[in-house]
Amino acid sequence: MAKQIGPDCRQCRREGCKLFLKGEKCTTKKCPMERRPVAPGQHGAGRKRVTQYGTQLREKQKVKKAYGILENQFRKYYEEAERMKGVTGENMLSLIERRLDNVVYRMGIGSSRSECRQIVNHRQITVNGKTVNIPSYRVKVGDIIAVKENKKDLEMFKQLKGMKIVMPKWLEFDSNELVGKVIALPTREDIDLNIQEHLIIELYSR
Ligand code: SF4
Repeated sequence: MAKQIGPDCRQCRREGCKLFLKGEKCTTKKCPMERRPVAPGQHGAGRKRVTQYGTQLREKQKVKKAYGILENQFRKYYEEAERMKGVTGENMLSLIERRLDNVVYRMGIGSSRSECRQIVNHRQITVNGKTVNIPSYRVKVGDIIAVKENKKDLEMFKQLKGMKIVMPKWLEFDSNELVGKVIALPTREDIDLNIQEHLIIELYSR
């Protein structure tokens, strides 16, 4: 399983933006990015000259950290996006957004992508009635994503019942039944991360 090393909040401070890695804490005043949004370390608040390469690299790191993807897998998304019709950067983000762990996160089943990755790994999610335990599994339009029938009584899922969950328009989710559906493919507007994906493409095109 892909694993990022280091404390989550430090990763956000390094990238200079919220990556939403800690679930509920990310939307409260306890978030360190609300209190001290500077890079970690003794000279974190100092002025630094950033090269073009450095800017491109940081942009790539933001996406990798937010989605919990390691370099090899990330490069494969780029290479696949490059072979597709359309804008490579947008294609790449759309492919990443369609990962099952992210879809479970977007549906509000878990509070962070890492928690959702664990939920998938622990065989608690089905796609079209079959258990899928691969976080990178790519969903397609029409797929039915559900909490496994015999897991619905777990406390973490029971507390979702009846909850109003805000989610992107390409997904729907019934929080009473704990069943959702992919109703469209995600477009760039559906992806709320503050990313300049063209910088990542420039980096890989060097
Ligand atoms: Fe930590 Fe979440 Fe804030 Fe990032 S967004 S600094 S993970 S609390």
